Amino acid sequence: MLMFVDPTRIARRLRVRGVVQGVGFRPFVYRFATQLGLAGWVRNDGCGVEIEIHGSEPLLDAFTQCLATEAPPLARVDAIEPEVIPPDLSRKDFVILPSVEGGVATAIGPDVTVCPSCLGELFDPDDRRWRYPFINCTHCGPRYTITRALPYDRARTSMVGFIQCPGCEAEYHHPGDRRFHAEPNACPVCGPRLSLFEPHGVRALARDPVAETLRRLRLGEIVAIKGLGGFHLACDASLPDSVARLRVRKRRPHEPLALMCANLPSVARWAQLTAAEAAILESPERPIVLLRKQGDLDAILPGVAPGLDEVGMMLPYTPLHYLLFHEAAGRPAGTAWLAAAQPLTLVMTSANPHGEPLVQGNDEAFERLGEIADVLLMHDRDIVVRCDDSVLRVRTDLPAGSEQGAGGGIQFLRRSRGFTPLSLPLSDTGPAVLAFGAHFKASLCLVRGREAFLSQHIGGLDNPEACAALDEAAEHLQTILAVQPEALAHDAHPDYYSTRAALALAERLGIPAIPVQHHHAHIAAVCAEHGIDEPVIGLAADGVGLGTDGMPWGGELLHVQGAVFRRLGHLSPLPLPGGDRAAHEPWRMACGVLHALGRRDEAIMRFAARPNVEQVLGMLLRGARCPPTTSLGRCFDAAAGLLGVCEVMTYEGQAAMLLEVLARRFGACLPLPGGYHIDSRVESGLSVLNLYPMLAQLADEDDAARGAAHFHATLVEALSQWISDAAYASGTRSVVLTGGCFHNLVLAAGLRHRLLARGLQVFEAQHVPPGDGGLAFGQAWVARAALRQGWL
Ligand SMILES: [Zn+2]
Ligand SMILES: [Zn+2]
Ligand SMILES: [Zn+2]
Repeated sequence: MLMFVDPTRIARRLRVRGVVQGVGFRPFVYRFATQLGLAGWVRNDGCGVEIEIHGSEPLLDAFTQCLATEAPPLARVDAIEPEVIPPDLSRKDFVILPSVEGGVATAIGPDVTVCPSCLGELFDPDDRRWRYPFINCTHCGPRYTITRALPYDRARTSMVGFIQCPGCEAEYHHPGDRRFHAEPNACPVCGPRLSLFEPHGVRALARDPVAETLRRLRLGEIVAIKGLGGFHLACDASLPDSVARLRVRKRRPHEPLALMCANLPSVARWAQLTAAEAAILESPERPIVLLRKQGDLDAILPGVAPGLDEVGMMLPYTPLHYLLFHEAAGRPAGTAWLAAAQPLTLVMTSANPHGEPLVQGNDEAFERLGEIADVLLMHDRDIVVRCDDSVLRVRTDLPAGSEQGAGGGIQFLRRSRGFTPLSLPLSDTGPAVLAFGAHFKASLCLVRGREAFLSQHIGGLDNPEACAALDEAAEHLQTILAVQPEALAHDAHPDYYSTRAALALAERLGIPAIPVQHHHAHIAAVCAEHGIDEPVIGLAADGVGLGTDGMPWGGELLHVQGAVFRRLGHLSPLPLPGGDRAAHEPWRMACGVLHALGRRDEAIMRFAARPNVEQVLGMLLRGARCPPTTSLGRCFDAAAGLLGVCEVMTYEGQAAMLLEVLARRFGACLPLPGGYHIDSRVESGLSVLNLYPMLAQLADEDDAARGAAHFHATLVEALSQWISDAAYASGTRSVVLTGGCFHNLVLAAGLRHRLLARGLQVFEAQHVPPGDGGLAFGQAWVARAALRQGWL
């Protein structure tokens, strides 16, 4: 038989890199190629997606060009590398080939919210997935938190135990279906199921777990709800007694709690919303967004975020969340109800009792949440990876990133669910490095090529569970990225668990472990994010980090260039009476200041209610257990203590947050005259910013709000003078502002504004938190720079 040979037929092999697995990319390629009449195949492999196409040159060009622009919503195409190959004339059709195992070097997508098509089915009484809490498709649903390894296939996820029914299987194998190769595909017949349990582990008597959960919530009960990356503790926000009970049981008397509302009109009932904030709330990532409270929120929901003027709000992001609001709305058919304000508002707080990691497993939930929750809403799909909710805010004064429209840039306070494990781009390539972070708000960072992968938030490493979670996350990150690091990076503090873990792993792998000074890493993280290679002047202001002189630093002016930094200056030290305890008890910091000012009698009078005030003053007198710290965080605490705003903190950052709110409420004011001076130390060459004159004036202030406003105004004035002096002296115009203190908007926005007005360029952390949650990113960047400069 004579075969017709098309002389115009050519062939190409395309290598596609980026987030292209688990996002419906292969079915999209299949449909697109079939539409154009191209022959060939597509498959997942360790590097992403590989495509072979045969056809005429113009069609092949059209296909290649549109691959990135027409890709499905959750896909991110970073690179397409074409290669010309000989055409295979026998190939007539286009097929999807099975995945290849091997050197994995691709990225898995994060967990994202239910898509509009799935929502339509969820509320359609005629659909077979009506009210099915695990509905998903290739455009939505869980990814990262159910995946054990790559390539992303059902067999490597926690869906492996659920065998698809014929209906699901047909969808899964039909290239034209929205669920074609949707790995978590499931339905009420074959997929995971909900069940409701009493705290002692006995199944609750309920025909419908969702309806019963809502009934219990309305009765004021606290419900533990299994979510994507862990459990939440939920209660009805409109019942103050429930909120109070949740606080008592969680031992969190004042910490702000996040709220979940059905939709934007319901959010607007409680918080002011800009277009940019509305957009990020509704984005597929569904983070918690910090919003300005409506005036009457505290009167109606008094226990939610006491003393603060912001409230963390989020929209539902799993089908189960939606079902609770649907039930409350009376189970309407269709999605029209989602456009109207709904009265139900839920408190949704991470179920991480006593600061331990999120509860992950069902048995663990009974054990750890049994005392806190009245009832537990669980399911039988395992959570492979813990992942807390992300927290961010929109700042109109920050440059908007490419992913954001007009209206300001976003700034992360916690980068986790919805964003992990998406990579952050790096300006340069280099060896693979795994960085271990520090002690608080721990997270890891693995850099590979031009990408940095920041792990989910792990939390403070002060309990064995959190330390185990760090080890687990380190293992998982290396597994899913299939990277064997060439070096490790860690904090310079020898006693941190993260340091010990890094050293142990380095020994096991036979690779170097590079210590990075804490504040150097903070500034480096911003350099890495903004691709800054030239020298910068950086202000790293936080609670504590070990300095090169063995002292607790935290208000540091550094000159940073890659792996090298030079300390230019620091805040004048304050005593930390009792060491770490002073970090939780602002009254101790205030005592330290009063002692230094020679006003000891006043300290005894002011803090007479504190049983150990005499003892603390005795320690100060003897200089025993009172290490000096240059921390700006502790300076905030001292001011809060002196102004009577907060004597003992029950959550991290409380004193500074209350002070910030008071300052904002008071409004603009002038800096205190003579509130600071800058001393140049001849012996050390360091520039020391002395804030004692301001603290002395605050000690005489009787209006806390006015004092808080003066504190911020003076601080902004002093820091901008200090930083610009250093910038001019060194001939550097690029300034980095970072560290946990920059969660404070009055400080961050005020200082940014002043420095820009002085003609300096200002860089801040945006896609990585300014606090210790972003530290690992900076450590990895410094370690790479050190390796590049041949330090090892
Ligand atoms: Zn969907
Ligand atoms: Zn099924
Ligand atoms: Zn820090």
